[in-house]
Amino acid sequence: MHIPSIEVHKAATLAEASALLGRFSPDVRLLAGGTDVLVDLKTARFSVGHLVALGGIKKLRGVTEERDGLRIGALTTITELDRSPLVAGAYAALRDATSRMATPQVRNAATVGGNVAGAVPCADLPPILIAMNATALLSSDKGERTVALEDLVVGPRTTVLRDNELLAAVNVPRPPERFGAAYARFGLREANAIAVAGVAVALALNDDRTVRSARIALCAVAPAPKFVKEATRLLVGRVLDERACAQAAALAMEAAEPISDLRGSAEYRRELVGTLTRRALAAAQQRIGR
Ligand SMILES: Cc1cc2nc3c(=O)[nH]c(=O)nc-3n(C[C@H](O)[C@H](O)[C@H](O)COP(=O)(O)OP(=O)(O)OC[C@H]3O[C@@H](n4cnc5c(N)ncnc54)[C@H](O)[C@@H]3O)c2cc1C
Repeated sequence: MHIPSIEVHKAATLAEASALLGRFSPDVRLLAGGTDVLVDLKTARFSVGHLVALGGIKKLRGVTEERDGLRIGALTTITELDRSPLVAGAYAALRDATSRMATPQVRNAATVGGNVAGAVPCADLPPILIAMNATALLSSDKGERTVALEDLVVGPRTTVLRDNELLAAVNVPRPPERFGAAYARFGLREANAIAVAGVAVALALNDDRTVRSARIALCAVAPAPKFVKEATRLLVGRVLDERACAQAAALAMEAAEPISDLRGSAEYRRELVGTLTRRALAAAQQRIGR
């Protein structure tokens, strides 16, 4: 299928991109790496008359270390994030997602902004970013605002972004002492298969190994990435023994709202959430060490 005739506008600055979005909304989409939007246009999932190309906005590229954590520019590709020397230590859990999604060719073009703000329910980065308490920096020609990553996506391909707003960066706060995170996902093949279900966990422990903080997030099992708030309440103050992990897995299964499709039934996905939660909890604990 061919892409229908579209006008592509190259934005040189964030303000210009925002103004173009405002001018052509709702007949417009952003073009970052194009790995989703061009497929959607080709398959007529939607049609628009205008694309605003972000490639010329240098400010949107790259991973930097700030006083309070990592700043990941929205135009940073998945490969660039995966290979960044700053994605080390406690931040290295991001690689559980970046190293396993899609293929090297797709990862070279696909951007963090497209993965997060594209709001596709099976996207791999949102759960680990939510578990790590990341925030989204939204920008428009009127200014900037910050939202918690778990509040950004509200449904399939639907976000809280206003007509003239775009995602400028994702900020991941500096992890505390005795912190470990992990993302466990299941796909029908080892490579180039989207997640049937994914679970991310981030934990910080006290010296006596009780839980100081815990965050669990899911993907591919609800219309939007799912932050399992109740798991935090359940785990804080406890030792992560078998019983606590089983209860957290049960909570995550309850929080999931899976559908049945060609990749698996709703029941199968719910079971996967339980298994992946236990795996991610074990991997996160292992990364904390003794
Ligand atoms: C073969 C194949 C396999 C794939 N496998 C996986 C996989 O395993 N896991 C996975 O998570 N994804 C997978 N994907 C999906 C895709 O590669 C990612 O979601 C990608 O990160 C999208 O980024 P992009 O830069 O290509 O976005 P684009 O296609 O350019 O844009 C996608 C959407 O995001 C919006 N957008 C882009 N940037 C911004 C921004 N800065 N602010 C606001 N909105 C923005 C656009 O308006 C558009 O609606 C796969 C894709 C393909 C083609």
